[in-house]
Amino acid sequence: MPETPDLAFRRRHLLAIEGLHPFEIADLLDCAEGYVAHNRKSDKKLSTLRGLTQINLFYENSTRTRTSFELAGKRLGADVVNMSVSGSSIKKGETLIDTAMTLNAMHPDALVVRHGESGAVALLAHHVRCAVINAGDGSHEHPTQALLDALTIRRRRGRIEGLTVAICGDVLHSRVARSNLLLLQAMGASVRLVGPPTLLPPAIETFQVPTFTDMREGLEGCDIVMMLRLQTERMQGSFVPSVREYFRLYGLTPDKLKAAKPDALIMHPGPMNRGVEIDGVVADDIDRSAILDQVEMGVAVRMACLDALTRHLRDGD
Ligand code: ASP
Repeated sequence: MPETPDLAFRRRHLLAIEGLHPFEIADLLDCAEGYVAHNRKSDKKLSTLRGLTQINLFYENSTRTRTSFELAGKRLGADVVNMSVSGSSIKKGETLIDTAMTLNAMHPDALVVRHGESGAVALLAHHVRCAVINAGDGSHEHPTQALLDALTIRRRRGRIEGLTVAICGDVLHSRVARSNLLLLQAMGASVRLVGPPTLLPPAIETFQVPTFTDMREGLEGCDIVMMLRLQTERMQGSFVPSVREYFRLYGLTPDKLKAAKPDALIMHPGPMNRGVEIDGVVADDIDRSAILDQVEMGVAVRMACLDALTRHLRDGD
């Protein structure tokens, strides 16, 4: 009888969704599922990562991602160190590679890195011996966001396969859009991209997904409406006539939402700009909005990723 291939997640780093096998994604989601239940208990401390050191290195600001990686590491029993760029030698001109080699010399077991340049985290991973997790690199990828979004969808809908997901707004600058597109397609969902022509990537046809510049047309019959923040910090020049005009045409309002399925789920990776890409009424709809579920799933998914990436260190236990 042929052996069942081992398709559990056994990689050294988690740098992107691109290239992951659906079995590897499912393995991480299944592992995270156990942590969701665990995180609801009052005693959250585990010893899975006891003795291991995790460094969070954030070159860009973050609330959710940094806090949830910190909680994830601490709940698994690791020693967690947070490095912010403002208080470090990076401000004194140290290069990314020098910082990587310096941290590497301190023998961390996991490095969680966010950087403003696409590809910077993968570059850093070449210079360290420990596991590296990409916590967002420029407009390239944000793999743990896509995993937590997938877990949210799977728990709320019972499946990912066969669902229609509209990713709406500033697709051009969004690493969340890219990672989600890759993951959701790998797991059998149909994905659409919706946004103004100026905020859809060039050569959009190479993505081979339906694209819409009209919100109502794009939302028609969708199961999931995933809104994106207008990433003005990545824009050089003007991409939208005005915030008011953007909200009128692309902001998710109760009226535009009527085009989607009556029970369509609303998602947003945060931070949200109410009155820009989403109306507060929609964001706060307790039946339809999964935005706070996404935050909860973030901790569980990050625990699963840290667990999976350090499994080899425990294999001999
Ligand atoms: N928090 C997400 C990210 O880091 C989305 C956003 O910032 O709009 O990419």
